[in-house]
Amino acid sequence: MTASVKSPRAALPPLGEDEWPEAVEVVIMGGGPVGMSCAILLAQRGIDVLLLERRDFLFRFPRAHLLNPRTMEAFHDMGVAEDIYAATPTHDRWRKAVWYTTATGPGRFDGLKIGEVPAWGGGPDAERYRASSPRAFANMPQLRLDPLIHRHAVAAAPGRIRAKQEVVDIRQDADSATVVIRDAVTDDVREVRARYVIAADGGRDSAALLGVELEGPRDMREVVNYHVSLDLSAWSEPDALLGHFLHPAGGARRRGTIQALGPTHYDRDSEEWLVSVAGWMVEGDPDDEAALFDSIRRMLGLSEDHAITMHSMTRWTYNGLVAKRFRAGHVFLAGDAAHKHPPTGGLGLNSGIQDAQNLCWKLAAVLDGQAPDALLDSYQAERRPIVAWYTAHSLENANRHPPIAAALGFGEDEAEGFRNLEVFVSDTLEGEAMRARVATEVAHNAHDYSQLGVEAGFHYEAGALVPDGTPVPGDPSDPTDFQATSRPGHHLPHVWLQSRVAQDGTAPSSHDLVARVGLTLLTSASAASRWQEAIDLIGGALPVTVVAIDDADEAWRAAREIGDDGALLVRPDRKVAWRAAEMPADPSMVLDDALAVILRGGRAPAADPAEPFLKRIRAAASVLVQ
Ligand SMILES: Cc1cc2nc3c(=O)[nH]c(=O)nc-3n(C[C@H](O)[C@H](O)[C@H](O)COP(=O)(O)OP(=O)(O)OC[C@H]3O[C@@H](n4cnc5c(N)ncnc54)[C@H](O)[C@@H]3O)c2cc1C
Repeated sequence: MTASVKSPRAALPPLGEDEWPEAVEVVIMGGGPVGMSCAILLAQRGIDVLLLERRDFLFRFPRAHLLNPRTMEAFHDMGVAEDIYAATPTHDRWRKAVWYTTATGPGRFDGLKIGEVPAWGGGPDAERYRASSPRAFANMPQLRLDPLIHRHAVAAAPGRIRAKQEVVDIRQDADSATVVIRDAVTDDVREVRARYVIAADGGRDSAALLGVELEGPRDMREVVNYHVSLDLSAWSEPDALLGHFLHPAGGARRRGTIQALGPTHYDRDSEEWLVSVAGWMVEGDPDDEAALFDSIRRMLGLSEDHAITMHSMTRWTYNGLVAKRFRAGHVFLAGDAAHKHPPTGGLGLNSGIQDAQNLCWKLAAVLDGQAPDALLDSYQAERRPIVAWYTAHSLENANRHPPIAAALGFGEDEAEGFRNLEVFVSDTLEGEAMRARVATEVAHNAHDYSQLGVEAGFHYEAGALVPDGTPVPGDPSDPTDFQATSRPGHHLPHVWLQSRVAQDGTAPSSHDLVARVGLTLLTSASAASRWQEAIDLIGGALPVTVVAIDDADEAWRAAREIGDDGALLVRPDRKVAWRAAEMPADPSMVLDDALAVILRGGRAPAADPAEPFLKRIRAAASVLVQ
């Protein structure tokens, strides 16, 4: 049985190229992946949105590439996921990270494998990842992903995704924000009023414009990225997406990371690569391309005349920043504007997309008059502790790499490094002990690459939800531990519903039952009419769709953690907002109370839930090696 759902608004009307509205519902500042995702999610709901990007929409740098299952769920909702899967390899061979001395080369120790870990839902973790979500882990460098999201954003919000428009000021009064925009081509300045603004500017201007402080360590380590074309097919490693190189030659300078950028192969046959080295390791003049190519060739063990073509070079630094506030009046910070951390763990882009998913359903509900403005305060309550955790975890991941070089005995002294490498390959007890130490340090890096608890298990303890007093299942301090649960604040467990197999033989996921507008009440077929009556009695503005799942669906019965006549109330971002283990004596009263708490954005926690993670950030930063 399905409740009548208030129809979403009509499709968003296009804006003419030169048409500038005086006012819109939401202005988005910044056309990176987070801003564009917000534009799609809001436009799909018919929200009057305008995205302003200070530059063009030519995406120049590879940047992030790992898209975890929760992000792919959001991309699925946006209609982007299928394009990503279609453009990336279907085989599983890219799912590991490896450590080598060099990729190849004539030297005795060249091309020596130091270790590997399974990564991104591959290897022994494949089944656990598959069970956690209906969407698979994907890999697509931003160089190719951002144009794809842009295409979808332009289609969803025609005329409203604008390049060369820089937000130079944001003024606020009690009812709205006025966004001051400078046209980068004509220098014209104009103003657009908005009920709400999403600052998704990557942290460039919003903090200063809004007076929001980002706390945490800055500029801890400089990294240089080269996007190059080179033939690495001589590498003995057939199927790694990511390779780390450590060599005793050069006294600890010959270290770096490469990542296959495709576009047709994401392994040693990749046409393009991202080469990353710590800034201080660059040997020679960093502006001398020939010297740079030589250092890349040395790191990979390639011959002096091995062809390399440079596409771009960027310098960036490690930060561990979390905004003190995610909301400043009518403005919400999202993505890198609200949090910045190193890519160790691949969580930056992912958490930004998850910010967008968290914020946009709430904005749409408020703008549609279905919820009070207070619901929007839950955005900070929910997201800030998560991204503080992610920031701490990413810095801790960065700290797991240097112990591998230490276990190998590689340091400033090149000769000593070579002596230690002799031991590493020797058929001696000492060699065996060293290999065991190195293997242990390599295995510790699994937390960077296979972290289902972090990627799929993030959950909210406070916010637009009603806690039920049950403990978090499993070990929340273990980044790899993930247990699906319907505990409020957690992601709705995913199961393939055999009770709903379609004519073509495919079964939908429990995730596919969740409405995009309002809340979804999942219950069993035998209890659905009583829950529907309760909802009809309440008659609130926020639609609640009752979805009945066959009482005999074994997989669902095993996953739901409630009785036959209980219910799960699920938000559009698939977080469980409330659950009833069984039918209450007065279901409409109990549900009404729960809805009131959810729509008010929940109850504020006594202490700042981000604080333990901010402490971990400071601790990890204090030992981060250059
Ligand atoms: C080398 C590297 C590797 C990475 N790897 C990963 C990874 O594997 N996985 C992962 O999840 N993350 C990774 N990241 C992080 C990821 O790239 C960022 O988290 C992500 O791009 C953030 O997206 P965003 O939309 O918030 O910001 P951005 O992509 O920075 O976009 C912000 C946009 O706002 C625009 N803008 C700025 N100021 C204004 C203004 N005043 N007015 C209008 N527009 C403005 C900018 O021009 C820009 O286009 C990596 C980053 C780097 C550098």
